[in-house]
Amino acid sequence: MTEPTITQLQPMPDDWQRALAVVAHPDDLEYGCSAAIAAWTDAGREVAYVLASRGEAGIDTLEPAECGPLREREQRASAAVVGVSAVEFLDHKDGVIEYGTALRRDIAAAIRRHRPELVITLNHRDTWGGVAWNTPDHVAVGRATLDAAGDAGNRWIFPELVEQGLQPWNGVRWVAVAGSSTPTHAVDATPGLERAVRSLLQHRTYIEALTSEDPETYVREFLTGHAEATGERFGGRPAVAFELFGR
Ligand SMILES: [Zn+2]
Repeated sequence: MTEPTITQLQPMPDDWQRALAVVAHPDDLEYGCSAAIAAWTDAGREVAYVLASRGEAGIDTLEPAECGPLREREQRASAAVVGVSAVEFLDHKDGVIEYGTALRRDIAAAIRRHRPELVITLNHRDTWGGVAWNTPDHVAVGRATLDAAGDAGNRWIFPELVEQGLQPWNGVRWVAVAGSSTPTHAVDATPGLERAVRSLLQHRTYIEALTSEDPETYVREFLTGHAEATGERFGGRPAVAFELFGR
């Protein structure tokens, strides 16, 4: 009799120096990714964040004009916890971010500025594993990021970027999609998990609006549970999973 085999996730490549994470909203990286980011910055790698919006439409009880700056501050604080100091906002409109050439150009420009070998984004598919519907912002930003990794290397796409001094960057070797229901690779979450908890906790206003539970209990259970479930496919170690696309 043969045991049913669970396909194991492969270790993420580690022969790189710079990564750029591109997501739609403050907290998108903290809901699952930041334990990996902490491990990478510990190892001396540079990681920068680009957010398409300031998440200004994310809290029902707060006007966007008040919410945007607050969520920006929370995002910068949560990035700092995992060793990330470069945090940029593209100022697309939260909730109605449009997939299209404007978004691709802004992301391609960011890729040319930061010159990463690894680009990270969040689930670009219609659903979360066929269970829950994804938001249009995540779909738009994820798809545009996968596309912009190529756009960044072609001088004839968005020639205005070259005129602004942003030379093509052909060095993106992989795009890693977090939150994918078909992951291929993983990073050991053990060393970064505690900082991931503290990083997500920086989004305190958002979390307090989201749940009546104690924020720390909610965040710890969410991140630990997720990492342990992923770890069943990574030799039993708590893990952060990615679907890795080579280029
Ligand atoms: Zn989001």
